[in-house]
Amino acid sequence: MMSLAKVSTRLKGIHQLSGRGNCYLFEKEGLLLDTGAPGDLEGLEILPPVENVLLTHSHECHAGGLIKVCSAYSPRVFCSELAVEGLKNYGIPKDKIEPLKGNETLSFGKLRFRVIPCPGHTKDSMAFYETKRGLLFTGDSVFVGEERRIPQGADLGEWAESVRFLSTLKVSFVLPGHGEVQRGKSIPKMIVESYAFLQGEAEGDPLMGLIAGGIQYADLDMMPEALEMFDMVLDKEPENPGAAFSKGLTLLKMSRFKEAVDCFDLALKVVPDFKEAANAKALALAAVKGVNPGR
Ligand SMILES: [Zn+2]
Ligand SMILES: [Zn+2]
Repeated sequence: MMSLAKVSTRLKGIHQLSGRGNCYLFEKEGLLLDTGAPGDLEGLEILPPVENVLLTHSHECHAGGLIKVCSAYSPRVFCSELAVEGLKNYGIPKDKIEPLKGNETLSFGKLRFRVIPCPGHTKDSMAFYETKRGLLFTGDSVFVGEERRIPQGADLGEWAESVRFLSTLKVSFVLPGHGEVQRGKSIPKMIVESYAFLQGEAEGDPLMGLIAGGIQYADLDMMPEALEMFDMVLDKEPENPGAAFSKGLTLLKMSRFKEAVDCFDLALKVVPDFKEAANAKALALAAVKGVNPGR
């Protein structure tokens, strides 16, 4: 049971309601983002009228309260076109459902959301990105905290790719489907760590996940974090050619040429015909000479 009295609010005009799943109520716009599980919205009578509902996905903890909201307010329900079939089980009339393909922009009053398809956790997972304040509503796509639950039927490879894309967005707040709202500097790390974990699961090798995470950090210009991830792999497997090569590329980007050469040498020692490593080593060597002319 929850009610507005239990709401914690950090963002003006948005209330977080936490039952088995989180819902977010935009008071002025009469918009409810996710509905929680059946029974989560017991204090609903005191909510302002809900005109629109946005759903991150069709799992019960997020869409199960829909029957109650719909019977009370008859709102329009925006969700992935892939969730529509499932919502029939909740008894939602089809003409109230607005199917989303992804990449649309939705407007509610002054609020604008970009719809980001996030297949993986479920086929019908979506994230909603409010660009003005950099708010990202992630549903269950990004892991917050220690618990990393993978539901049956999840597609790990797709999920990892969805999360990798989320890491490229400029985000000030992550508003997840479970757990606390996240803010500030910890966000890119949280998202890339989720990506690295999922990629490791997808490949059946956590070290591959860490390498992928490091590459993503480097793409995001988070060089110290990237090096840290490659080093985590090299601590476990000191001659991992993929980690050595990727670390070398990162050092090259940071103009740490001599260290880069050492990394490429390590990769080439293990895989002598590693062409990319040989090419990158040549670049690094040329740069070393450029930095120290005449030597
Ligand atoms: Zn879920
Ligand atoms: Zn959930």
